[in-house]
Amino acid sequence: MNGIPAIPVPVNEPVFSYEPGSPERAELEAELEAQASEVVDIPLVIGGEEVRTGDTFDVVMPHDHGHVLARAHRAGPDEIRRAVAAARDAHRAWSTARWDDRAAVFLKVADLLAGPWRQRLNAATMLGQSKNPYQAEIDSACEIIDFFRFGAHFAEQIYAMQPISDPGVWNRSEYRALEGFVYAVSPFNFTAIGANLPGTPAMMGNVVVWKPASSAMLSSYLVMKLFEEAGLPPGVINMVAGDAVRITNELMTDQDFAGVHFTGSTGVFRSFWKTIGDHIGEYRSYPRIVGETGGKDFIWAHPSADPDAVRTAIVRGAFEYQGQKCSAASRAYVPASMWAELEGPLVEETASLTMGDVRDFSNFLNAVIDRNAFDKIVGYIDDARASDDAEVLVGGESDDSVGWFVRPTIIRALKPDYVTMCDEIFGPVMTVYVYDDNAWEETLDLVDSTSPYALTGAIFARDRRVIRMATDRLDQAAGNFYVNDKPTGAVVGQQPFGGSRASGTNDKAGSMMNLLRWVSARSIKENFVPPTDYRYPFLESE
Ligand code: NAD
Repeated sequence: MNGIPAIPVPVNEPVFSYEPGSPERAELEAELEAQASEVVDIPLVIGGEEVRTGDTFDVVMPHDHGHVLARAHRAGPDEIRRAVAAARDAHRAWSTARWDDRAAVFLKVADLLAGPWRQRLNAATMLGQSKNPYQAEIDSACEIIDFFRFGAHFAEQIYAMQPISDPGVWNRSEYRALEGFVYAVSPFNFTAIGANLPGTPAMMGNVVVWKPASSAMLSSYLVMKLFEEAGLPPGVINMVAGDAVRITNELMTDQDFAGVHFTGSTGVFRSFWKTIGDHIGEYRSYPRIVGETGGKDFIWAHPSADPDAVRTAIVRGAFEYQGQKCSAASRAYVPASMWAELEGPLVEETASLTMGDVRDFSNFLNAVIDRNAFDKIVGYIDDARASDDAEVLVGGESDDSVGWFVRPTIIRALKPDYVTMCDEIFGPVMTVYVYDDNAWEETLDLVDSTSPYALTGAIFARDRRVIRMATDRLDQAAGNFYVNDKPTGAVVGQQPFGGSRASGTNDKAGSMMNLLRWVSARSIKENFVPPTDYRYPFLESE
């Protein structure tokens, strides 16, 4: 009973290779086949109970949209209220539960996922969100494992932050859970974000109502089952699906709404902030508002940069997972001298990228998430074709007959504020602006001012003075800044992730900074020898 538990020191989960003949490849293939041959019935999970309303929507494979993977039940007003009530009921016991018990649940999630659950969740992520094996592995296996192992380690450090004490007094800090429930709203593009948004506040003792993205319901449901398998008590995390606006309006007008943990687009987050502002007088506490939102992530190359490194960063940074990472590179600034030798190989390499079903492991790209995304991306490409200010250099073809496929596309913008240099497209579209070599310093101003976002960005140069100047000039242009590397692929514990400006509150997912948002400190002063006379010495007469 008595002891101060020590969280095992975390290291990043190794990434499996899935090379032909490897055991993980065989296991993943078997799991893909099994999951593709069933239709999962996905309930709401409220107070540990599976709730079915009968009002369902289809979850399909984006690369084969005629194939229904699951049917998910929608919550109505009654279920939404029940989810809040279940969270409320679980609050007392969970928020006062021992830290080692809470930590054990999430350390167990990590270990189950590192072992027996790994390929279940990877296969669901591949089929439901159209990821290749490597993209699934770094997301639904490694990043979730890292979130919880590192999260427990950071939480331990937070709890150990204690104040000093004068003689006769003992001061302590308690890191309480928030009073009320946290609303977690997750995007489609990372299963790991789906696990982290409800999981991290819960690890810190909070109760949660979680609304996953409708297109990521299959992997999200498995994450929910994994939490339960690891021993999370009923009601601590409640999963609801359905009409996002209705769910949000119901939850954000409840007096016990204590915070929102959101990742998704900028417009949705702004609407949340506005709703919270409109109801600010009605809550028990000021809600914590944490949101990681859109990006327009850049690659800037200096004439001294290595063109092969720039080309590889563009191809991987812009096209992996079809450009549907918030960190995906989508605008590049290349000096004219380099462009002369870069254009040919870049176009050729982009044209050679393989694309298709996730179950064919030779595909580098798969499909974009849904019809809306497909239409939006194709719209930008069509506009570029018709514009005098842009030129489509490679790609641009699309085919939605079987899946929502868009070929990786490179647009050359003839003016630096052409629309695809500014807007977040969230698809496999890279726009390049070629600048005069002598104007490299002014181009840094363009990088900084062209878009409202500030999520990720990369600079490429060999000249050390240039690296220093660009790093300083772009100090507010990206929350994750890369030197001679692509701007994607942040790793928990290594590059805490998040951006500012229109990209979010920059609370750095997976770091101690994020965990601090989910606690409310109480300072306790205990006086061992309390004074027994109100008079201070200065009051005495001489
Ligand atoms: P989205 O904003 O469409 O959806 C995110 C979540 O919000 C989903 O659960 C959705 O159902 C819900 N939602 C949508 N509209 C809503 C509304 N009006 N009211 C209440 N809830 C609503 O985003 P998405 O398409 O799932 O994800 C892509 C976006 O997420 C991109 O903008 C991307 O940049 C961003 N993103 C950011 C980060 C980051 O760390 N900064 C990470 C991943 C994704």
